[in-house]
Amino acid sequence: MTLLTVSNLTKVYDKKAAVDHVSFTFQKGKCIALIGPNGAGKTTILRTLSGILTPTTGSVTFADNEKNEDIRKWIGYLPQYPVFYSWMTGKEFLVYAAKLAYTPKAEAEKRAVELLKKVGIEEAGDQHISKYSGGMKQRLGIAQATIHKPKLLLLDEPVSSLDPIGRREVLTLMEELKQEMTILFSTHILGDADEVSDELLLLHQGKIVESGTMAELRKKYQTAKIELEFQHDSIPYQAKVNAMASIESSYVDQNMLHVNAIDITQARQDILHVASAENWPLTSFSLNRASLEDMFMKVVKR
Ligand code: ATP
Repeated sequence: MTLLTVSNLTKVYDKKAAVDHVSFTFQKGKCIALIGPNGAGKTTILRTLSGILTPTTGSVTFADNEKNEDIRKWIGYLPQYPVFYSWMTGKEFLVYAAKLAYTPKAEAEKRAVELLKKVGIEEAGDQHISKYSGGMKQRLGIAQATIHKPKLLLLDEPVSSLDPIGRREVLTLMEELKQEMTILFSTHILGDADEVSDELLLLHQGKIVESGTMAELRKKYQTAKIELEFQHDSIPYQAKVNAMASIESSYVDQNMLHVNAIDITQARQDILHVASAENWPLTSFSLNRASLEDMFMKVVKR
């Protein structure tokens, strides 16, 4: 079911479009990664969706908003560089954030305790934020962004600045949160997008240049390469492989035979069939999967 439709979103600064006619639809309960290099327009999209920035043109429409209500109450936003009052405790900060979202005092206290537990910093709830690690601050930031139970959670580079432990904690938290709300997060670390997102939006110079699920994109950009490793020199097998109709060419690198296929599925079948029938001394057989990096490079070079 559709949560949100973004149509022709454009944001122009000094006659230059930071975001250029961007359109997409979010389904409820998905986690979407907005991927792009520095300056691609990720923050501008997130700030525009959050309501902080007004788009130059274009619209953001929530499917359930028949009464044309203020959509900000449905959105939670964690900026790339969140600012905390470090003299407050984590709990005080969350109560303060809840009150800013018009939550009554008793409810705010209850929600703050609930969220400290949920994001895994319950025991540090009464400590000053100045004592928090980067990962704890990021988790507190996510708690603050979800204090009003938004339908859409926007996270700007939530893990980029964290060490591996903090990064893991926040990615795990995002996995949990996506059961409850739709998440859009930006990153330039492609592995993080691969790990936690259901769908990817690839952004380049303010435009969406590719989108889809990881599986769809892998299929589309899969390189038609197969690598065969033999127990000994691979030269004796090259001519047989090259004779297959599904194979374009190959080259030998000692025990490895690198194969370029015309049809990767057929090539896989052909090679495995002959290898099994003739009992080839194979030590490994691998289909070369396109990495997100390969995909991104191909897309931006188009
Ligand atoms: P990063 O990964 O570095 O945060 P980003 O993908 O989030 O980059 P944006 O911060 O959205 O990119 O910036 C997109 C473009 O818009 C950049 O060229 C940037 O210089 C420009 N830009 C952003 N904010 C402003 C502003 N307030 N005034 C003028 N130009 C701006």
